[in-house]
This record gives sequence, structure tokens and C-alpha cells, in this order.
Amino acid sequence: MVYCHSPPALRLDGNLVSPSSFNPRLSRRDAERLVAEALDSAALEREPAERLAAQLTGPEVFEPLLEAAFESKKRIKGDVVTVSKNIFIPLTNLCRDRCGYCTFAKLDDDPDAKTYSLDEVGEAVRGGLRSGCIEALFCLGDKPEKAYRSYRKFLSSRGLSTTAEYLTQACQLAFELGMLPHTNAGILSAEQMQALKPWNASMGLMLETTSQRLRLQGGPHQIAPDKDPVVRLQMHNEAGEIGIPFTSGLLLGIGETSEECVDTLLAIRDVSRRWGHIQEVIVQPFHPKPDTPMEFVLPISDEHVAAWVALTRLIMGPEMNVQAPPNLAPEVLELLLRSGLNDWGGVSPVTVDFINPEAPWPALRELDRRTRAAGQKLVERLPVYPEHLIGRPEFFDPQVREALHCLADDAGYARPDRPHAGVEAA
Ligand code: SF4
Repeated sequence: MVYCHSPPALRLDGNLVSPSSFNPRLSRRDAERLVAEALDSAALEREPAERLAAQLTGPEVFEPLLEAAFESKKRIKGDVVTVSKNIFIPLTNLCRDRCGYCTFAKLDDDPDAKTYSLDEVGEAVRGGLRSGCIEALFCLGDKPEKAYRSYRKFLSSRGLSTTAEYLTQACQLAFELGMLPHTNAGILSAEQMQALKPWNASMGLMLETTSQRLRLQGGPHQIAPDKDPVVRLQMHNEAGEIGIPFTSGLLLGIGETSEECVDTLLAIRDVSRRWGHIQEVIVQPFHPKPDTPMEFVLPISDEHVAAWVALTRLIMGPEMNVQAPPNLAPEVLELLLRSGLNDWGGVSPVTVDFINPEAPWPALRELDRRTRAAGQKLVERLPVYPEHLIGRPEFFDPQVREALHCLADDAGYARPDRPHAGVEAA
């Protein structure tokens, strides 16, 4: 397979874009003007975003961009940076797709292939509750029943035919034990999301990229039908129509062009504006992993990650929650903290990051210390943000809303007076 970084790109709208801007190079004064306009209008549009993206870590752009993004963050989020104490339950690591960067997915005859029993789900949830975790993150492979006879037998022995049905049982169990599920199970139909909604606080699907080019031969999504951006955007829209607080995000470093990244962020912004359900946008860098087709692809630099966080902030505007996982850039948390993020995402004191097992979570105490040292304040949140919990109560099934309110303080964050709350209990 060939993984390249620069051929012409076909956007979702069918227009060809080149890997580099046709515009002349920005001076620092140009960059300052573009980011000031973005701050004034609370949004950055395609043309200036592409111009800034073409020179992201250049000396003319990098500092003005970060300064403007941090200012934008402060205007609505103040000095708050949130984190969710969670447990990660990889309900099954079987998947019908073969993304070029993934080590999570296993073949069914791999000794590391695993599907959790409901007893194991219950055990994981009870362990999380003992550590004060609120969120049960269900993250799993996409539709393994389409690929594996053995897995179909597993489902049929339980009277089920789809992973989504089994997932619904697992979410119900976690909810009834006292945790709030957030599901990220790949592509789900509208009916499947409806079935999950009574047991889920929120759901998510990384859009990752709008690039169809990355699905062509030699690309990381060649053997991944569920990475068709049209299908992924359709699920974003259906989640909005149903009214589900929804997480999306951008995956960096898998061969996309800067124009494709901008296009991806604008696509997320469009669905967010249409339905009001996008609760956060994750900026996630790809980490090359041994024994994958992308093992030898160079990772993007930490400065690029920070610059994309900043550009995401300016494109999405000051109200959006922007997240970067702290375990994927642990050396530069301070840089990320001044790039406009306001959320560290789910950090578990109990379970590893099964998608990036080589990248341990920072201890919550350490995350708290470094956030405070940067002049900001770490606040524990629920799987949903106050904007939806308090501002859009109609987004929740009544029993989920009631459970969320039992765990929330008056501002909509996690109650600090519950057992094992906060970073000290981690
Ligand atoms: S869809 Fe997700 S789990 Fe499946 S191969 Fe791709 S990255 Fe891995």
C-alpha cells in the first residue's frame, strides 16, 4: 500500500482542490488580520482557513493563530478546561473494516480477539463506579456480524442478529448499574440510535475526514466501507434529527491535505448549525503503530496538532467544545492549553485507551496540576456538556435526563460532592 500526503483532492462537493494554496504566502500582518476577522465574526470561512492552514506552523501564522484561538476560547469558556472520568469498554474488537492505521480491530481467529460478555461489562462498570467514574464509553468495531460467522453464532446464541442489539443490552446494563453510556460504535442506523437513546447520554462518530481520495487504492480507507464520508455525514444528520448530543472530530496525519482538513471541519460545522447537536469536536492525531500498513508513516508534529486545535477553534467558533486527547501529545499539554481547547475528553483512572494502548492516560492529578499551572481550571464534566443538559433538555430521554441531573451540579458539571468525585479520588 502507498500512503501519500499531497495529490489533488476531491472534496465532497465534487470540486478538485490542489494540495497547496493558490494564494501568495501570508505575511504575519496578513495572518493577524485574518484571525482578527475570525474573532470578530466568531467563525472562520473556507478561503481564509485554507490560507492559514497552508502555513500553519510557519512563523507568520503559528503565534497569531494560537493567540486568537485562545482569546476565542476565553470569551465563552473562560478559564475552564473539562475532563470526563470514564471507563472504556471495547464491547467487541472485531470489525468488518481494515483501516490502514488501526491495531484495535482483530480477526476472529486472533488470540487477542475479544467480545465482552454482559457479566464482564457489569464487572467493568462496577470497577469504574468504585473509582468515581460517571461515563461508560462503549467503543467497538463496526458491524463484525457482516464479516464473521463465529460472531454471528455468538449473537444468535443470545437471540440477536446485530451488534447494535447487543450494544443496547450492554448500555442498558451499564445505565441500570449507575453509569452513563456514551456510545461510539461506528455507523449506526437511525433506528439503532433510537434504540440506544434511552440508555445513552450521548453518542459519537469521528467524521475523521471528508476525503474520498483516502478511500482509493493505496489509501488508509481503501478496505473500510464504513469510512465513506457520505455515510458518516448521513449518520451525523440522523443523530441531529433524532436529537442526540453528538461528538465528532478530525483525524490528522493519515494522508489528508490541509484543504481536506478544512473541508472536514466545515462539514462538521454545517451539521452542527443545522441541528445544534454537535457537543464537541475532537482533534486527534494519528499515531503510527507496529504491524500496520502505516507503520512507517511519520506522525505529524505536536506543533501541527496544536495549530489544528487552534484552527478548529476559529472555524467552529467560541461556543463549541474543542477537545484534544492529552495522552496523544503528553509532552505539549501547555502548548495545547494555549491553542484554544477547552476539554481533555475522557480520561480513565481504570482502563487503558484501547485505540491507542501505547499512549497511557496522564494521571488526573497531573492533568489538574498542569492545567492549573497554565492558568486554567480543570473541571469534571458528565458525558454531556452543560450547554445541552441545561440549555437543550429536549435532547434527552426522560430517564437519562433524570440520571444526568442526579449527577450534575447547578452549573451542569459533575457534582463534586458525590462519592469518589474529582481528581483526588483518581
Ligand atoms: S473502523 Fe475503527 S475499529 Fe474498524 S478498522 Fe477502522 S479504525 Fe479500526
